[in-house]
Amino acid sequence: MLDFDIEVVGGIVIASIIIILGFLGARYGNNKHYEAKLTFDQMKDYFLKKHDCKDCNTKLKRITKKEYLGEGWTRMMGNFSYSKKYRVTYYLKCPVCNRLYTSEDY
Ligand SMILES: [Zn+2]
Repeated sequence: MLDFDIEVVGGIVIASIIIILGFLGARYGNNKHYEAKLTFDQMKDYFLKKHDCKDCNTKLKRITKKEYLGEGWTRMMGNFSYSKKYRVTYYLKCPVCNRLYTSEDY
């Protein structure tokens, strides 16, 4: 099943990347809702580009952090459903010097 959501935050249209996570979530049941706030450019950048550490030029690893937001109603494709909500944040991490990059840094 697909979870897909478009949110307008501060006048900027931000697409949540729920598609990939939605597939993951569907394997464990449909009662989890993930939301991620990245602009479309940040999304492309994160998933399609290779990133190197600015300090030591090592290839960065993608890591995700899930933050439990509590249970509640969410709207998915126009339908409301009760689910456990998580906010997902994407980071890039250097395996050598442990420098952490957020979506604004890379
Ligand atoms: Zn490094």
